Amino acid sequence: MSTIETVTGPVEATALGRTLCHEHLLTASEPIRVQYPHLVDHERELQRAVEQVRAAMSHGVKTIVDPACMDLNRDVRLAMRVADETGVQLVMATGIYGQHYTFIPQHFQTRDEDYLADVFVHDIEVGIQDTPVKAAFLKTAADEPGITPDVEKVHRAAARASNRTGRPIMAHSRPASRTGLDQMRIFLEEGVPAGKVMIAHTGDTDDLDYIEELLALGPFIGMDRYGTEIFLPDAARNTTLAALCERGYADRMVISQDACATIDWFPEEMIGQLAPNWHFTHIFETIIPALGELGVSDANIATMLDEVPARWLSA
Ligand SMILES: [Zn+2]
Repeated sequence: MSTIETVTGPVEATALGRTLCHEHLLTASEPIRVQYPHLVDHERELQRAVEQVRAAMSHGVKTIVDPACMDLNRDVRLAMRVADETGVQLVMATGIYGQHYTFIPQHFQTRDEDYLADVFVHDIEVGIQDTPVKAAFLKTAADEPGITPDVEKVHRAAARASNRTGRPIMAHSRPASRTGLDQMRIFLEEGVPAGKVMIAHTGDTDDLDYIEELLALGPFIGMDRYGTEIFLPDAARNTTLAALCERGYADRMVISQDACATIDWFPEEMIGQLAPNWHFTHIFETIIPALGELGVSDANIATMLDEVPARWLSA
């Protein structure tokens, strides 16, 4: 029986229970924290994270996977306080998002993939940010700029860290430019078993041909941005997900929101206007009932929320 590292220690994969596979306690601009700390209200951020987590728990959620990493202001101490106050099981990552999905810091630009892999392995084997909390998986990202040299370095380093530790990988993707296929090519070239990979944000497209081409390579996929209608309206996400369930892919998908209890990338009022349904309980309140009307069975929902996350994390 495999165990999964959480903020409060390792748990049996079977004990993860209902899992939101992609939500963020906090997404923030890292340099601002160091240079202009007067712009940051840590207590408010904690409060908002606790509020969102408790709301999700009221729908039976036991575990939240937070793929925060470098450039998203991953904050293990915030996660520890949230776990302590709510009792939720939080699963953390190590990895690099990339500034503008393009560049990594000079420190890593002048060093090779194996040096970067060592950094990731440290978080998996020793702990994150000088704590004993261990990363359960690796995080990478590719987006509009595609596979730049820096983006490729991060993907190869994550693949090597995965090969050394057995830990799975979650890759932020941009279906509009079919990055998932390029990301899978790198992982497979490095020898990562496809079943250890989750291609996040695949639900941002309703192009079933692309999605099936990607699934044929063997990864799990994230239907994980419900409530972000700027990328794809929920109605189109639902018909796509229902079609994939009908074709027998429920056991390869997770449902989530990629919501951030706090995100400092935009003025607060702008988020309320642009994405009023972008929060930790939108799928329970609105999406799952709508999926039911499209013929997605309760068993399919249970597979995507209760089984697939554990299967990916323990792959
Ligand atoms: Zn995310």
